[in-house]
Amino acid sequence: MASEISQQHQLHVFIFPVTAQGHMIPMINIAKLFASRGVKATIISTPLNAIAISKTIDQDRLSGLDINIQTIPFPAVEVGLPEGMESVNQITSPDMLPKFFLAMSMLQGPFEKLLEKYHPDFIVADMFLPWTTEAAAKFGIPRLIFHGTNIFSHCVAASLKSNKPFESITNDKESFLVPGLPDKIEMTISQVPEHIIGSDSLYSAVFEKVRESEKKSCGVLANSFYDLESAYADHYKNVLGIRAWQIGPLSLRNNDTLDNVQRRNTLSIEGHSILDWLDSKQPNSVIYVSSGSMSKLSSAQLTEIAIGLEDLRCSFIWAVRKITTGEENFLPEGFEERMQGKGLIIREWAPQVLILDHPAVGGFMTHCGWNSILEGISAGVPMITWPMFAEQFYNEIFVTEVLKIGSKVGAEEWKDWVQTADVSVKNEKICKALTQLMSDDGDENKEMRKRVAELSEKAKSAVREDGSSYVQFTALIEELKMYNK
Ligand code: UDP
Repeated sequence: MASEISQQHQLHVFIFPVTAQGHMIPMINIAKLFASRGVKATIISTPLNAIAISKTIDQDRLSGLDINIQTIPFPAVEVGLPEGMESVNQITSPDMLPKFFLAMSMLQGPFEKLLEKYHPDFIVADMFLPWTTEAAAKFGIPRLIFHGTNIFSHCVAASLKSNKPFESITNDKESFLVPGLPDKIEMTISQVPEHIIGSDSLYSAVFEKVRESEKKSCGVLANSFYDLESAYADHYKNVLGIRAWQIGPLSLRNNDTLDNVQRRNTLSIEGHSILDWLDSKQPNSVIYVSSGSMSKLSSAQLTEIAIGLEDLRCSFIWAVRKITTGEENFLPEGFEERMQGKGLIIREWAPQVLILDHPAVGGFMTHCGWNSILEGISAGVPMITWPMFAEQFYNEIFVTEVLKIGSKVGAEEWKDWVQTADVSVKNEKICKALTQLMSDDGDENKEMRKRVAELSEKAKSAVREDGSSYVQFTALIEELKMYNK
């Protein structure tokens, strides 16, 4: 194991993710990345989440990485949440959200005890734990922020927040310019997150704290790479004055781990190996459909997707993950029998990165979570974008208008993720968008495939030893070493 700093004091980092899959996955990869460069990495988590990640961390330790987990009890019952609820992904109703945020803020005391005991050299903490900056400062420890998204979306949000270009708009469908950005970016009010427009939502208060903590932190670690959004990285630094290190795509660092090899051999649904099924398909002939780990689609919307997929000529893998309880019969009668050989439905956790990387997969309909988009880019797969909440509408613009590696399905309205929209996109639109993406015809399609293939190569180059993400990461470690001299 390369341990460039083992001769001196070994740097020690605390990595503290919010307990949501879309944040834990990349932050665990950050911990592994630090450990692979000789930094001792301690992941801070809650007891049940620690159990869930312990296998992969144990494997890393066996392979020589200095990586471990420290747990803090999660006060679910104390704030009125069900016992055992420790993950954002378990939230099923809007009233649970403020309680979850309250429980997260109550982690400060126990976290400070860990800081006092172990005194790490620096902390990488999730954006949704803004109080970690203050906690770290009490012990003279620098804190870096991980947002889980790209830099483009920060630039858009910052412009919206400070310029309020939507204020003069009266019609939801009328587009307006988001001023001061490297590209001409237009949006409609219905695409803008509620907390940007209003100031009385739970999120407005949360994001206010996040912005305050950003000002007092040392900078941002971004799961992105310079070539992907260089104009926005420069804007972030030069115009918004925020330091960032682009160290991704983080999913690429996991490619050849034992973890993935073992997963490859065990992945199956109802006795069929997903990857064997993909092996039986022609290159670029399968579309992968997923709405991430948190989206709460209504049964009616899932039915529309099912009909759209049935009408489609090509094969598909659909990661359904219906999370909200209630009516489960969303599949049209006989759907699964009719789809034998044509489509796989995954109700559990899908091996997304392995699926996207398979040569048979030639398209990805995504909810525009940033991890998913970057995984799609890394795999060189063009996308159909279906944003729903958080910064996903910004990401859609980035994919379809800035990078030009995808097309929109036609979702128009931002919704808080705990609210289930009835039907936002009808089956005809879904089928049309997917058919267009998967068809061989048309220069536009060919250009799109070419562009995403080029970006995939650039993504892989970025994480190689002389690549931009590798170099930026080295620079960060060097700077942290200087801090601790
Ligand atoms: N993911 C997965 N299998 C699933 C659902 C999600 O592996 O069935 C992974 C996906 O690869 C990504 C993360 O979960 O790394 C989801 O993060 P993203 O930012 O795309 O969306 P979120 O779930 O946070 O909305």
